Amino acid sequence: MERFDVIVIGMGPGGEAAAGRLQDAGRRVAVIERELIGGECAYWACIPSKTLLRGPEARAAAGRAAGVSTPALDWPGLRDYRDYMIRHLDDAAQVRGYEQAGATVIKGAARLAGRGRVEAGAEVLEAGHIVIATGSEPVRPRVEGLDTVTVWTNREATTVRDIPARVLLIGGSAVGTELGTFYARMGAQTTIVQRGERLIDREDPGVGELAARALQADGITIHTGRTVARAQPAAGGAVITLDDGTKVETDVVIIGAGRRPNGAGLGLDAMGVQPDQRGAIPVDQHCQAGNGVWAVGDVTGVSLFTHVAMYQGRVAADNILGRQRAASYDGIPRVVFADPEIAAVGLTTEQARQRGIATAATEVGLADSIARPWTYERDPRGALGLLADRDRQVLVGAWAVVPLASEWIHQAALAIRARIPLDVLLDQVAQFPTYTEAYLTALEQLAR
Ligand SMILES: Cc1cc2nc3c(=O)[nH]c(=O)nc-3n(C[C@H](O)[C@H](O)[C@H](O)COP(=O)(O)OP(=O)(O)OC[C@H]3O[C@@H](n4cnc5c(N)ncnc54)[C@H](O)[C@@H]3O)c2cc1C
Repeated sequence: MERFDVIVIGMGPGGEAAAGRLQDAGRRVAVIERELIGGECAYWACIPSKTLLRGPEARAAAGRAAGVSTPALDWPGLRDYRDYMIRHLDDAAQVRGYEQAGATVIKGAARLAGRGRVEAGAEVLEAGHIVIATGSEPVRPRVEGLDTVTVWTNREATTVRDIPARVLLIGGSAVGTELGTFYARMGAQTTIVQRGERLIDREDPGVGELAARALQADGITIHTGRTVARAQPAAGGAVITLDDGTKVETDVVIIGAGRRPNGAGLGLDAMGVQPDQRGAIPVDQHCQAGNGVWAVGDVTGVSLFTHVAMYQGRVAADNILGRQRAASYDGIPRVVFADPEIAAVGLTTEQARQRGIATAATEVGLADSIARPWTYERDPRGALGLLADRDRQVLVGAWAVVPLASEWIHQAALAIRARIPLDVLLDQVAQFPTYTEAYLTALEQLAR
C-alpha cells in the first residue's frame, strides 16, 4: 500500500487549488479523479457557459454602441472555440502536468476505507491528510413524465452542437438565467419557469426585477412563482404543463434547479464524519471536517462558486502545511453573467435584518448619475445598490446590475472584507469616466 502526505479526492477547482499548493510546498500528493481533471467548472459549467455567452454578448454590445453595425453570429465558429476551451473533453495534458510535477494521478472513483485510507478501484492508498473536493450534482426536480421527454442538465446544455428551436429552463437563478440568455440570443424560443417569486431570489428583490427586464428584452418568457407540474411527449418535442395549467411547447427541458453537494456515499462515516441532509460535508473555518479530513468546494455547501472552491482549497492546504488560516466569506462576489451582468456581495437587506444590523440602504440609477453608461452605449442601463451598517459606518452589502459589474463589484467586495470606513470610501477617487464612479454617487446619497 502506497503512503502519501495528502490524498486529494476530486480534481475540480477546489481539489486542484489544494493539490497545487501542497505540491509546491514539496508534499507527496496523490490525486484521484473519476472523470476529468478540471472538474465541472472546466468542461461543463463556468468555462463553456462564459465562452458561449461572449459571442452573443459582443453582438448585442455592438448593437448598443453608437456607430457600429451589428455583427453576425457564427455558431460553428463559436462552437469550435467552446470545444477548444473545454479541451475537447480531454484531460491528458492535465494528467501529464500533475505527474511531471511529481504527483500520483489515479483515474477512478474514490472511497474512504478507514482512517487515513482511500480505495480507488484496485488501489488502496494511505495518507495523513485527505482532502475531499467531490463537488456537486444537479438536482432533478420531481415532475410527472420528466423521464419521457428530452431533458438536459448543464452538461448537455453547455456542450450543445445544434441549437434547439425551443427550450424551457426549470430554475431562474444563475444557471437558468445564463443559459436562458444564451439560448434566446442564439434564436431559440426560450421560457424560464422559476418557483420563487423573482429571478435570482438569493439577492435583494430589485436585482431580480432588473434581471427579468433584461431577459424579457431578449424575448424570454418568464413564469415566476410557478412550478412544472407535468411533462408529456408531443409531436417533435414536449408539452410542459405548469402548476397553474399554462402549457408550454418545447424541444428540450434544461434543468437549472440547484445543485446537491456530493458528500454522500464516500464512506465518510469510517472517519467519524457525517454529511448533512443535503449531502454537504460540514467544515470548520479551517475547512477541516474531522481528524485528518478536509473538505473544500461545492461539497461543503458553503457557497457554490469556483472562486470559493479555490479559496477553500488554499485555506485547507495552508492549514495542512501548518500555516494556521481561517476562511472568511465576508467579501465573496456572486455574479450572474447575464447582460447586463448581475453582481452582488455581502449581505442582502433581509440577511442584515435577521442579524439585527441597523442598516441604511441606497440605490442609484447609473444613467442619471455618471458619464460612463452614456459613453458605453446609446441606451444606458444599470443600477447600483449599497447597504451600510449605521452603527459601524461600513458597507455590509452591495449589488449592481450593469455592464461589466463582475469586474467593478470588487471595490465593494474589498470594502466589505476589509471593513473600510465609509469616510474613507467617500474620499476615494475613481478614474473618470468609469462605472466605478457610481460608488461615490451612491455613498453620497447614503451619507445624506
Ligand atoms: C452551468 C454552470 C455555470 C457555472 N458558472 C460559474 C461561474 O461562472 N463562476 C463560478 O464561480 N462558478 C460557476 N459555477 C459553479 C462552479 O462550477 C462550481 O462551484 C465549481 O465547479 C465547484 O468546484 P469543486 O472543485 O467544488 O467541484 P467540481 O468542479 O464539481 O469538481 C469535483 C470533481 O470531483 C470528482 N469526483 C466526485 N466524486 C468523486 C469520487 N468519489 N472520486 C473521485 N472523483 C470524484 C468529479 O468528477 C469532479 O471532477 C457554475 C455552475 C454551473 C452548473
